[in-house]
Amino acid sequence: MNPDHTPAVAESAHPGRWWHALEDGRLQCDLCPRDCRLHEGQRGACFVRQARDGAMILTTYGRSSGFCLDPVEKKPLNHFHPGTPILSFGTAGCNLACKFCQNWDISKSRDMDRLMDAASPAAIAAAARRLEVPAVAFTYNDPVIFAEYAMDTALACREAGIRSVAVTAGYIHAEPRKEFFALMDAANVDLKAFTEDFYAKLCGGHLQPVLDTLAHIHHLTDCWLEITTLLIPGHNDSDREIAQLAGWIERELGPEVPLHFSAYHPDWKFLEAPETPPATLSRARRIARDAGLHFVYTGNVHDTEGGTTDCPRCHAPLIVRDWYTLKQYRLTASGACPDCGHQLAGRFGPGPGDFGARRQPVRLGT
Ligand code: SF4
Repeated sequence: MNPDHTPAVAESAHPGRWWHALEDGRLQCDLCPRDCRLHEGQRGACFVRQARDGAMILTTYGRSSGFCLDPVEKKPLNHFHPGTPILSFGTAGCNLACKFCQNWDISKSRDMDRLMDAASPAAIAAAARRLEVPAVAFTYNDPVIFAEYAMDTALACREAGIRSVAVTAGYIHAEPRKEFFALMDAANVDLKAFTEDFYAKLCGGHLQPVLDTLAHIHHLTDCWLEITTLLIPGHNDSDREIAQLAGWIERELGPEVPLHFSAYHPDWKFLEAPETPPATLSRARRIARDAGLHFVYTGNVHDTEGGTTDCPRCHAPLIVRDWYTLKQYRLTASGACPDCGHQLAGRFGPGPGDFGARRQPVRLGT
């Protein structure tokens, strides 16, 4: 819990959900498994939820650290409307404390000055329509901690015919999990490792709630699911752990859930591991495919083989990528292999988008 009650600028104070009062007067947040118990004025570990005037509030509702048009492949989502742009934004804070965080400036920010862009859910949906982008992504920091804002935005987007995507670590309690993912059209969930030790020591969390989230999304919602594992040399990249992680996905979720292995870069808070060699990503991909997964990708590197989607039935290349750029797209208008007719798992429109690899900042608010 954070005792600091004095953010840099005035914040929004939106009523928070998922909490209850304890007998000793504190409020317990029931949104994520951190179960923060807060005295009046105190903030949770995520920094953005606060006990104020006897109720829980979300201090970042309607405020963003900035909007960008990104390629959907950057989320990463390889089986969700390839080649299209996605209006992406985040807020501040995070409910995990990953020492190796690759987004440290945003996710660990306690400086609300970063939240320059004010935008209501309706304004975000309207902007997506104006910009003619088919989807909005809650990303850069974890949308679980701004769930009320993300869900209201997803609702406004749904009414406007815009899809919603969550990029998350999936660290959320069962009740909010149901409501949150019911409103998402796609999610990329970080599975940071496959040991409790890693989650406890390097992330300040636990593995099981994340596995529960993956199973929930895949089995109980219409939300399209892809998974990302950031490989950190010496910490989560052993053959054994990769085989266990991929084996769990194949067994519990099935072979058609895409898995992305991405490369770690040393961050100022965590210099104990070198950059991930491309050979590690290729090795992990091989192991996961041997475990039975059909769609295993390498990320943050130029690797055409590791960026290619092959037909699981006839093995013809269907979508060839280089980093975020589509090089070849051979799916039929109904999303099937043109050679053998196999229907590819995912959500595909009649054709690919042509947004390319660019990143385009967008200013929404005042
Ligand atoms: S969302 Fe999680 S980290 Fe934030 S206050 Fe609630 S229990 Fe704590």
